[in-house]
Amino acid sequence: MTTSARVYYGAIINPVDLRHFDALPRALIGVTSDGEIAWLEKDVEDHQVQDLLAKHSWSDVELFALDKWDWLMPGFIDTHTHACQFPNIGIGQQYQLLDWLENVTFPTEAKFADTAYAKQIYPSVLTRLISNGTTTCCYYASLHLESTKILADIAHASGQRAYIGKCNMDRESPPTYIESSPEQSVADTEALIKYIRSLPTTLVHPIITPRFAISCTSLLLHQLGALAAKDPTVPIQTHISENLAEIAFTKSLFKDCETYADVYDSHGLLKHNTILAHAVHLEPREIELIKTRNAGISHCPTSNLNLSSGSVKVGEMLDKGIKVGLGTDCSGGFAASILTVVQHASIMSKVVSFEARGKVNSTASKSDSTFADKPLPVATLLYLATVGGARVCNLQDTVGSFEVGKSFDALRISLNPRTKNPGISAYEDPSGFKGADSEKLLRERLEKFLFCGDDRNIAEVWVAGRLIGGQNFSG
Ligand SMILES: [Zn+2]
Repeated sequence: MTTSARVYYGAIINPVDLRHFDALPRALIGVTSDGEIAWLEKDVEDHQVQDLLAKHSWSDVELFALDKWDWLMPGFIDTHTHACQFPNIGIGQQYQLLDWLENVTFPTEAKFADTAYAKQIYPSVLTRLISNGTTTCCYYASLHLESTKILADIAHASGQRAYIGKCNMDRESPPTYIESSPEQSVADTEALIKYIRSLPTTLVHPIITPRFAISCTSLLLHQLGALAAKDPTVPIQTHISENLAEIAFTKSLFKDCETYADVYDSHGLLKHNTILAHAVHLEPREIELIKTRNAGISHCPTSNLNLSSGSVKVGEMLDKGIKVGLGTDCSGGFAASILTVVQHASIMSKVVSFEARGKVNSTASKSDSTFADKPLPVATLLYLATVGGARVCNLQDTVGSFEVGKSFDALRISLNPRTKNPGISAYEDPSGFKGADSEKLLRERLEKFLFCGDDRNIAEVWVAGRLIGGQNFSG
């Protein structure tokens, strides 16, 4: 869908790398009618705007000047969530993973055998995620083909950028929630891929989704690996090394594999376009294998804390150059907002730093250039929520930051007191971003938003230049 070309003038936050982001108090950004960023000018004073529009031959294009409380930033990328688990968000926190699946989650997912239930639940999932600023999302649906088609339809209608997969599960699952054979599981997966590719969209894509090694026979994993090899453009998502009991059970089921990561690798499922959720208890040789294969990690700290899975050594992965993004993992995680995940990623990195104190091999004090065993800085948290997620999805040339040629997947954040968020609106500085300290003020406001903000502060959400959500969205 196309809209009119637009120019936005005002404050912009733009992630650069793991340690830096640009805070641009007065930027001018041109977006084409196809939703692509055509140009970006920094440090633009009011009297320079018209000259710059003329320079780009954009004088006739609609200009939107941002309010003094507002800024633009790239949309959030959620690299791991379960659309079919939203009905049981917030319950079952007393369990760890395997008991939680059996007692809470599998019974909920089984309800999606009924397509009417899918039609009832899935629209609110999309609305909730978009209102929280998620412009790209990687979804697990249930194992049901028809309900997953409905999720794809709803994602397409919403305008969100999405990867959608149906779970593959042919063993170690309840009798009422299991696929009849590997052949049926693969046939339904191929049917879903074909269906999603038939939709008139460039934003919604299929993704092969073996739930986790426990729920898949070796035969099924081999067939999914063959499917991925036959069509290498289809990415893969699965879980890895979330919980100690899960890891022990996995190794008992795949005795020929030395590690959990080796299970996926030996079945052709550990590739540059594989998204691995959790990675809480990886062995050093698994980290090396994941790095070699260039697979991405979805870091889901809210879920890992909630299900008592453990703390993730994200800093070590970043030091090794592994791709890392953030995931809500609803409903292991109880929040549908990447902001909450950012907050928990920060807290978890501090826990890791506490645990490392006094550790003989700790790298914490050795170098300022490493992340291992240290709290994650704000710039890193912002990067993981945006560019990091884009890299995990292999979308780094399309989204994640504001660069010429990328898609305008963006948020307008507002700290205007009218947003009624007491956590932020008490922080009143009406001078806006015009003064000498404007860059410092903008950086402070970003930090304030990341740690105290919520959907009330997300005024507008665009994907590919199209307004699809936010507090000011009436569609
Ligand atoms: Zn998950």
